[in-house]
Amino acid sequence: TLHITEAFGRIGEENAFAVLARATDLAAQGRDIINLGIGQPDFRTPDHIVEAAIKALRDGHHGYTPATGIKPLREAVAADLQKRFDVTVDPDLVLIVPGGKVTMFMAILMFGEPGAEILYPDPGFPIYRSMIEFTGAKPVPVPIREENGFAFSAEETLSLITPKTRLLVLNSPANPTGGVTPKAEIDKLVAGLARFPDVAIMSDEIYGQMTYDGLAHQTLLAYPEIRDRLILLDGWSKTYAMTGWRMGYSVWPKPLYDAARKLAVNSYSCVNASAQYAGLAALTGPQDAVRAMVAEFDRRRRVVVEGLNALPGVSAVTPKGAFYAFPNIKKTGWRAKALASALLETAGVATIGGPDFGVFGEGYIRLSYANSTENIQRALARMAEFLEQNK
Ligand code: PLP
Repeated sequence: TLHITEAFGRIGEENAFAVLARATDLAAQGRDIINLGIGQPDFRTPDHIVEAAIKALRDGHHGYTPATGIKPLREAVAADLQKRFDVTVDPDLVLIVPGGKVTMFMAILMFGEPGAEILYPDPGFPIYRSMIEFTGAKPVPVPIREENGFAFSAEETLSLITPKTRLLVLNSPANPTGGVTPKAEIDKLVAGLARFPDVAIMSDEIYGQMTYDGLAHQTLLAYPEIRDRLILLDGWSKTYAMTGWRMGYSVWPKPLYDAARKLAVNSYSCVNASAQYAGLAALTGPQDAVRAMVAEFDRRRRVVVEGLNALPGVSAVTPKGAFYAFPNIKKTGWRAKALASALLETAGVATIGGPDFGVFGEGYIRLSYANSTENIQRALARMAEFLEQNK
């Protein structure tokens, strides 16, 4: 018998991948499946970024890079943050990682152990909880409530901190809700955190460039009073339609940076060299493709919300960021996972049941609008027909 460590009895996963596999199976059987399940842009990576990777390969960038990432790229990240948010970041505290998830993995490994508590958003990205459980720490969900516009409540978040709390995970704009926490609420949260100087903060801002209605993204980097305990998670996956390249970055407080670097050295050594050059081209090149993609998501967002609100028993708040809608389906009489499953099997529409994002996700399903307007409209029509027939 093989004795795998008991931690693997606690690790979770992302059901979005299982839904994608099932949708792919059904499509292979000849079914017409509309996929609103997967959380990735339906756009290609812009050509100038692809060309930069090809050039890097032709130029002979075939070896290891520093574990922290190539210096011009770390400098470009710092310059981009300066330009976007008027914040100063030391390039030597920027770590290039193979995808945003890896920052999460590192931060939670650094603070999670039996006896520790880690706060994370629920509903939220499922990997937060999975990783927390993996370390043996106690996962403490911070409820993200529809009546609060799917924003963090500063008061409720602060009320959950105990002497055992080591790390607070924040995410705005948010997956799966599309919620954006207003600046005033973040101000309040940061002010309250002054009372808990031993709590580290990981701010997942991977959807930071995807906000709508003229709303500016509020980065946690803008608060000097917490910079010595803030880990910023960001990356290229969503902004530049680069999910398959595995390119992310983090900004660390000085005392944690070396620990993160050692995790890199002990696992993946460095990120694919050519992908780093692609990342450099993405940050330093024209940004029109990003603006065009966000404008397109905005148009679809309106179509999705209007369509959802016209469905029997369904109501959807207008998401202010990311590319997800998180409609309330309580009045349909369906349980969320059963509805998501029936929609896929019967109506050929892939969505994700809210409980896949946490206990507070019951009563909701997640739809990604990273799909064409035409497909979104077809999906909504199928959902309308399904709900009429299955009351
Ligand atoms: N954080 C959130 C909130 C996400 O939704 C995702 C991807 O779905 C990630 C992080 C991970 O991004 P990456 O693909 O760069 O690892």
